[in-house]
Amino acid sequence: MILGLIAVSVIAAGFLFLRYYPHRRAVLIEGVFDKAEKTTELFKNTRLITYWFDNYCRECMEKEKPNPLYGQCHQSIPSSAVQLVNSYQPQQGDPIRIVVWKNIFGKVIAYRIERTNFAEEFGPRQLEQEEQEWRAYEEARDRRKALDLGMIVSELRAKREEDNIRYAMERLGMSRGQVIAAGYHTLPNSRILDISRAKALSEKTGTTVTEEDVRREEKKFMDEVLVRSYDAPFCGWEADLTLRYHHDYEYAETGTVAKTEVGDTEWVLHHIKTCPVCFPKFNKMRERFLSSPRTQECLTDENIAEIVRTGMLGGKKELDWHGCLRCHVLFIRRQEEYLKVPSGPECFTQADLHGIHTTGEIPEDWRAHLAQCLRCQYASRRHRDMWLDRVAPQPDIPRFRLKNIRKNLKKTQ
Ligand SMILES: [Zn+2]
Ligand SMILES: [Zn+2]
Ligand SMILES: [Zn+2]
Ligand SMILES: [Zn+2]
Repeated sequence: MILGLIAVSVIAAGFLFLRYYPHRRAVLIEGVFDKAEKTTELFKNTRLITYWFDNYCRECMEKEKPNPLYGQCHQSIPSSAVQLVNSYQPQQGDPIRIVVWKNIFGKVIAYRIERTNFAEEFGPRQLEQEEQEWRAYEEARDRRKALDLGMIVSELRAKREEDNIRYAMERLGMSRGQVIAAGYHTLPNSRILDISRAKALSEKTGTTVTEEDVRREEKKFMDEVLVRSYDAPFCGWEADLTLRYHHDYEYAETGTVAKTEVGDTEWVLHHIKTCPVCFPKFNKMRERFLSSPRTQECLTDENIAEIVRTGMLGGKKELDWHGCLRCHVLFIRRQEEYLKVPSGPECFTQADLHGIHTTGEIPEDWRAHLAQCLRCQYASRRHRDMWLDRVAPQPDIPRFRLKNIRKNLKKTQ
């Protein structure tokens, strides 16, 4: 009896020993600390603390190719693990390493955070690599674009610079010399557009409107347009997304849906009008549409038809939606209708399009039709992109590194 008790105690003590004995010490991760977060392990109920780092951590740096799977390096520790008393309390941007002690089963039972010289050791090299990646990216992007336009890269660059100068001259009402002196030809067109809008608004209102003000307004408009985005909650009906994506503007304009690919029209309408998730969304869009009146600035039906047909208005490619939901809804609706119309006799067949994405060639004698058929322009663009993806794939955008310390690193360089 006593012997039995002793045996049980020894086994229990042994088990506890194994469970809590720090069998192995290891460095879990080293890098620039970003933040710590409480999480729960997927499919298990283990509570964790996840430590996030700026890219890249030491392990990723020492590998030939960093793991591109995650946007940010991170590691987790079970909440049950003991943080040692002499552990460092990191602030965002601190270079640290996490040292862990594991038991014989491989579970982390204790850890300590230590400050390191990771930033000095790897920082400049990471930023240098990022710069190299950007150069390679731009190179690959220009090669692709040049191939698409049937030019060589230097021709493409010369043409782009010339286009930029002309664009800025026209938009900002400046001479060639003024544009080049101000460096406006090196800015992307979107920024020139913002600058010109700010200038026009300043003149109109008599106050100073900055580029940032314009951008903020633009964002507000885009957010409104993106009501139809994928982020909004679903009602659980699997067709919700299709319905919303294809019929919200239709409902906004007409207050009904004419024909759907997701089910009997009457049933779908009934769903829209009774579903607690769908109804507010559709209704909001409709109310917004009805409450944005047609103003002087609005596009006429003829304007919209012209844009739909030619992609331009009065020969100008760039369209000003004057932040108007009404014009946007009507344009998207007319465009959808136009692109849906069954192909005319001269339109490209599936076999023609297949040829484009196999050879990349668009035969000379197709060009006349292409020039006046937006439907075929879209379709051939899509198929030519497929060809380009094969012969000159779109390069990956380089990863943004060391977000918490890059400013300071660049200063000291
Ligand atoms: Zn990493
Ligand atoms: Zn619904
Ligand atoms: Zn309008
Ligand atoms: Zn066509």
